[in-house]
Order: sequence, then C-alpha cells, then structure tokens
Amino acid sequence: MQAGQVSGRSPRDLVPFFTQAATFEALWPLIHSHLKEVMDRGKYSHGRKVAALEAALAEWTGAAHVVGVNSGTDALVLLLRACGLRPGDEVVVPAFSFIASASSVVLARGRPVFTDIDPVTYGIDPKSVSDVVTERTRMVMPVHLFCQMADMHGVLKTARGHRLNIVEDSAEALGMRWDGVHAGLLGSGGVLSFFPSKTLGAVGDAGAIITSDPQVAETARALRHHGRFGPTVDDFRRISTSTSVAGVNSKMDDIQAAVLTAKLTRLGEDIARRAELANAYTERLRDVPGVVRLPTIVSRDVETNPVFYVYLIEVEHRDELAAFLADRGVETETYYPTPLHLQPCFADLGYARGDFPRAESACDRTLALPLYPDLSLNDLERVCELIASFFTGASP
Ligand SMILES: *Cc1c(COP(=O)(O)O)cnc(C)c1O
Repeated sequence: MQAGQVSGRSPRDLVPFFTQAATFEALWPLIHSHLKEVMDRGKYSHGRKVAALEAALAEWTGAAHVVGVNSGTDALVLLLRACGLRPGDEVVVPAFSFIASASSVVLARGRPVFTDIDPVTYGIDPKSVSDVVTERTRMVMPVHLFCQMADMHGVLKTARGHRLNIVEDSAEALGMRWDGVHAGLLGSGGVLSFFPSKTLGAVGDAGAIITSDPQVAETARALRHHGRFGPTVDDFRRISTSTSVAGVNSKMDDIQAAVLTAKLTRLGEDIARRAELANAYTERLRDVPGVVRLPTIVSRDVETNPVFYVYLIEVEHRDELAAFLADRGVETETYYPTPLHLQPCFADLGYARGDFPRAESACDRTLALPLYPDLSLNDLERVCELIASFFTGASP
C-alpha cells in the first residue's frame, strides 16, 4: 500500500515503512555542493566522486579496498567471480535471505547449496554447513541480517576445516564488526548495498565490494568496467581496451556517490538513532502477548557491533497483523516471505518444503517494523499500541 491511500486519514496518521525526506532536507546544502561538483566537472561515469567515496568508505570500514558498483547484487556477482568461482562450483548459502544471496551464485555460474539458519541471529548455522559440503564445494556465504552478524567463529572454523573461501553477503551489515573487523573483511571479501532503505541509502541503486585482497579488488575493478584492467578514474587514455576477461558495465554512478558522500558524514549519528529506536520498540513490545520473539543480540566472547538496519519481530498471525496495521496506516514489510530453497527459480535444485524448518518458520512468522532515523518516537509508539491492540482486542 502506498502512503496516502488510506481513506479518511490525515497524513499525520500514516507511518511509512521508510522515508528519508527529513534527512535530505537537513543535508541538502551538503548534498547540493557535492552534486554541483559532479555536474560542473562533467564526468558522470568513472569520475572522481566514486573514487573519493571509495576512499571514505575504506577509512570508515577499515577495508584495504573498496570497489563501487551499481548495486549490492552486482557486487555479489562480481565478488564471486573475482574470488575465482568456476562454473559448477558449489557455494553454501543460508536458506533464509534476500534472493540475491543465491541468484548471484547462479549468475556467477556456480551452484547454490542451501543450509538452515540459527533461529536467534537468522544467520547461517555453521554446524549444518558440514552436512552439505561435497568435493565441489568452494565457498560458503554467511549473510549478516537485520541487526547482527552470523556466528563467524563457527563459520571460520568450518571454512578452515573444509578449505572453503568465505564470501560474506554483508549488504545489510554496514557498521557491524566482529572483534574489530568490519563485516565483509573476515574472509575473501564482502559487499555493501546502498539501496535507498539500507543503513546508508542512495537515491537509487548503488553498491560496493570490500576486500583485503588486492587481487580480488583489481579483478572486481576490471569486471565492473567491461573486463578492462588499468586505472579507472578520469583517465581513459590509460585504460587498456584489450580485454582478457568478459566483464559487465556496473560502475557506480557519480551522482549516487555525491549523495552518499554527504550522507556518510551522518552515518554514525544515524546508527545511534536506529539503536535508540530499536530499544524503544523492545521496551514497548516486550510484554505484548502474541509477540513471540524480539531481536536478541547474542553475546560472544569477542566484541561485536550490532547495527539496527531492520527491526524484525516474530508474531502469531503475521499476515493478519500486517493487514490490520496497513488498514490503520502503518506500513510493514516481510523479510523474507519465501525461503530460497522454495523459490521457483531454484526448482531444478531439487529442494522441498520441510528441508530447512528454521528458515521456513522465519519466513512464516517474521515482520519488519518501520525503522529509520526520521521515524518519530510518537509514530513508533503508535505502531506499538496498534500491535498490542491487535493481540489484546483493546482499542488503542
Ligand atoms: C539489499 C541486499 C542485497 C542486494 O542489494 P541491492 O543493492 O538491492 O542489489 C543482497 N543481500 C542482502 C542480504 C540484502 O539485504
């Protein structure tokens, strides 16, 4: 449902699932100056804004290399290829994730092999990875979802035991760290997504590959630009047009880089605001009957840095609750309604319902509530009151 379509309601009653209107209002002078630089210079593709953003993100994350591309999905495909995935190689992927975690493997000509998740972190269950490893398995792809990283102790141990590369789908994990190491940098590499609703969102699609491996970075840089190796910024005379690997055109747009450069100055603040709102949700929903699970940060023997990208709850009667909220002007999302092993595009892989019960249960019972820096505490309270009234029958 689009905000504004609820009849007889003032726009003040509507709580959109996501908006960054107030953020843009506040940041407009800075955004404008970065955009103007791009426009004035006249280099809209492969320009200096992308290179500057890559450098700023490298500093922010601690990554040795950042390669800006046009989406998180392309970042995954190019990363898998840059890490040397060969046709027919198997990659172990959790069955509960965004479709791109597995479709990227297919697009890189590999074969996704699914496994179940941990019911608390919603991340890959490292113990069940060993059950599906064969001699063709080359990589494992932990996905860090919603607010915390998957169990990387378990993933690192399993990967070492079976000699698998670790490629992280860290598209949602900007700001998350495991013992000081940013998500995406614990194995061969990871990705970032700047899809508008992500923790750092563009005004369209954008993404990046992050890695400590110079070889992976160099190959990814070539793959994003038609497979051409050589310098990429501003100097087309020096770029080789001799092509040794078939690439794609997936360069990050300088306009997106300009907006992201401005928004990056507020990222720390935005992450703190998200945490504050997540705490407020937890306080208000803790004792509501019918809410069967709230986000639970697992404590580890190393420091981890949770970041609330999504506030995800598990409830009884999920679809009815979502409809009840929508009727009252509150937008929610279902992350993710269908487990990957049951997606029609993977039907030929031979999986069936019942194969991964924890992933299937998460798909049936989880609901994402509005969470973004512009969300007001008043609106958050309204969401919580409506959820309570749905389960208790009391009027909010
Ligand atoms: C957002 C997301 C992606 C893809 O990012 P896009 O920029 O939308 O292509 C991949 N994996 C996960 C887990 C995501 O949340």
